[in-house]
Amino acid sequence: MSRGKRPKWMIEIAIERMNILFERAEMEFERHPERSNRYVVLAKKLSTKYNTRIPDKWARRYCKRCNKFLYPGHNATVRLVNEEVNILCGECGHVMKIPYHKEKKNKRRARYESIKKRNDE
Ligand SMILES: [Zn+2]
Repeated sequence: MSRGKRPKWMIEIAIERMNILFERAEMEFERHPERSNRYVVLAKKLSTKYNTRIPDKWARRYCKRCNKFLYPGHNATVRLVNEEVNILCGECGHVMKIPYHKEKKNKRRARYESIKKRNDE
């Protein structure tokens, strides 16, 4: 099994496993940061295998460049710059920029697209 869309139940299990992996990563970070990093890699593998996004809650908790688990105050610095959240990875120095109003914007776009679709019909 390597291609095509996964059934919904399989995706739900994948999401649950990713949540568990990140929860453990957070729990063990202070004593075993290397384990946390391993959990991130495992979660990313699940995400790829099941073609499912890492849950929003955790998407900003690992470095997109070096894949290390990020713990603000330990190996990451979070700053609000203008309308963006800047997360600085203390491991490799990579800065991730996340628009602060991302959620709102997505909602607005969804509404716009549903209106557009109605007009096209
Ligand atoms: Zn990094």
